[in-house]
Amino acid sequence: MAAARKENAEVIIGTDQTLEALPKGATFVVDFADPETGLRQVMAHCEQFPVDGVIGVDEVTLTLAARAAKALGLKGNEVDVVAAAINKLEFRRTLKDAGLPVPEFKHIPAAATAAEGLHGLPYPCVLKPTGLSASRGVMRANNSGEAEEAIRRIRDILDAPGADGAPALDKDIIAEAFIPGAEFALEGILEDGRLTKLALFEKPDPLDGPYFEETIYLTPPRLSEERQADILRAVQSAAGALGLTEGPVHAELRLDLDADSGDNQGPLLIELAPRTIGGHCGRSLNFTSGQSLEEIVVRHALGRHFEADLSDEASGVMMIPIPNGGTLRQIDGLEAARATLHVTEVTISIPIGGDVIPWPEGFRYLGFIFAVAADPDTVEAALRQAHAALEFQID
Ligand code: ADP
Ligand code: CA
Repeated sequence: MAAARKENAEVIIGTDQTLEALPKGATFVVDFADPETGLRQVMAHCEQFPVDGVIGVDEVTLTLAARAAKALGLKGNEVDVVAAAINKLEFRRTLKDAGLPVPEFKHIPAAATAAEGLHGLPYPCVLKPTGLSASRGVMRANNSGEAEEAIRRIRDILDAPGADGAPALDKDIIAEAFIPGAEFALEGILEDGRLTKLALFEKPDPLDGPYFEETIYLTPPRLSEERQADILRAVQSAAGALGLTEGPVHAELRLDLDADSGDNQGPLLIELAPRTIGGHCGRSLNFTSGQSLEEIVVRHALGRHFEADLSDEASGVMMIPIPNGGTLRQIDGLEAARATLHVTEVTISIPIGGDVIPWPEGFRYLGFIFAVAADPDTVEAALRQAHAALEFQID
């Protein structure tokens, strides 16, 4: 909303939530679970209040946004392409069919028995619900006992209400061979199929499981230019294989920096989502133009020119890890965390009295710490120092 305001663009929100205090016409009700109804609602509203661009903001809204853009004759990706990109199984199948490197993977349909699900799994492997995000329900299994437990837990997660308050519609699971290595995330933007890098992040904490709660993102990454170029190429190839052509992408990749050069397959894609990075993480990006990541996305949707140069300073964000589950009672050390040298912002996302749910069942971080400094080492140290000052009472 802030980005659109800065761009002098009026926003109309299609939502299934009640939003108060917005002027008439600024919001309308959309059924995301039933795409035909949803599209009819969008078309009816946009006939009265015409729009110049459509932006989907998360996995729940992306496919309807693509449908709407298509029906309104506006810029966007093909609907099937968006649907394939955000489904973890379709994503792997599409890359594999295009001859791109993928880990061995297996589909575990909702109807599969435990024995059917476990048959032929590669170990170690990662089991994930095909339709969720934010690492929700993502678990590593080193043997069949752990895999069986992971399948049971994922199915429970899929049957429980999610971030949107409803149980997931898609009950499928994918199991993939575990890809070792360091993880990176690329924020990019596609224009007519061509990828421009907005930022490449390093994730300095090892993500080896059993769960995959995110922590620190740092940019620029401490990685050679050559390897960075490999990552960009891999994401461009994957976007091409999927058929993604327009708008923001958030890609995650793994690169085995320890493997001998002979064994190294280069960067392997974990995911390529046709949206920006989630949560508040986009705030960690400072572009020389003074535009935010969201403004760049708005400008792209409206066909306006944008610059993609990041400021020379290093920057980072920590998604504050969840120490244990329960009710959030008290937070100490906030002032000290905020006063940490190079720390620019500390936000808390769960209210006092709110539920704190650890991963893999969880989907909400405790909050975010941001830091900016001359180099990534200093940013990382500042994030860790601020985090060490925080104390959460959860019981
Ligand atoms: P989500 O869309 O829920 O974020 P991802 O597919 O991105 O799910 O997986 C979440 C995290 O789990 C990744 O960032 C990565 O650290 C880990 N992960 C997922 N798949 C694999 C894999 N095949 N090998 C190693 N780690 C994986
Ligand atoms: Ca992810």
